[in-house]
Amino acid sequence: MLPTKIFLDLDDVLAEFTMTALRHVGCRACGLEDFNPKHGFDIVAQANAMIVDHPLFIDTGEPLFTVKKFWEAIPRSLWAELPRSKEFGFLIVESARLVGRENVCVLTAPIDDPECAAGKMEWMKENLPVWLRNQFLIGSPKHLCASPDALLIDDSDKNVDAFLRAGGQAILVPRPWNSNYQLCTKYFLEMMFQNLFAAQKARERSDRITYRSMKAFYDPVIPHGHVLLGGQVFRLEDKK
Ligand SMILES: [Mg+2]
Repeated sequence: MLPTKIFLDLDDVLAEFTMTALRHVGCRACGLEDFNPKHGFDIVAQANAMIVDHPLFIDTGEPLFTVKKFWEAIPRSLWAELPRSKEFGFLIVESARLVGRENVCVLTAPIDDPECAAGKMEWMKENLPVWLRNQFLIGSPKHLCASPDALLIDDSDKNVDAFLRAGGQAILVPRPWNSNYQLCTKYFLEMMFQNLFAAQKARERSDRITYRSMKAFYDPVIPHGHVLLGGQVFRLEDKK
């Protein structure tokens, strides 16, 4: 089934959270290439590995950041002032083009701090286009939004897996902390949307096409200009 609604994650999908937070706590984190994939989705481990480069760091033999200490160091203003991600414009525009503006929703999980949720709301007010500004949900159980026609675009393996298990569709945005870390983010996302638009066009042309495996739409090995329909990969141009 083609998606008819899209849920866009905020942190590290629409906004640059991880590297901004690492810089905030004193780490030399210039770009995504500075994040070591071996730490996976563990920003605190990455912070502890990076902080040793800080000129004022004193090695006590203990990790500087506990989980609690790290998250307590993130103020509301940081959530509110995150820079937009490189993919911000592309994802919003293409999502709206695919499913219609009224079916795009920002879906973001706050940490256990009301200031975080407030900061996120400030960020959305400041950054999102007017039509999207009030289309958001704040909460951790993202899988509760899953349905066969719902597509989640997120950078967390855990969120993506839970959404798929709950019967939804999902795209894992390549980041150094997830299992798509070896893929080129820009190329990968362009290909995902190209596949989805191609499938949408194909459906408009023929009602007989059945979609057996939406999973394959999200397979980056399907080459540009091709799409998987009815279990087969073929060029759309070949169809009448
Ligand atoms: Mg995220």
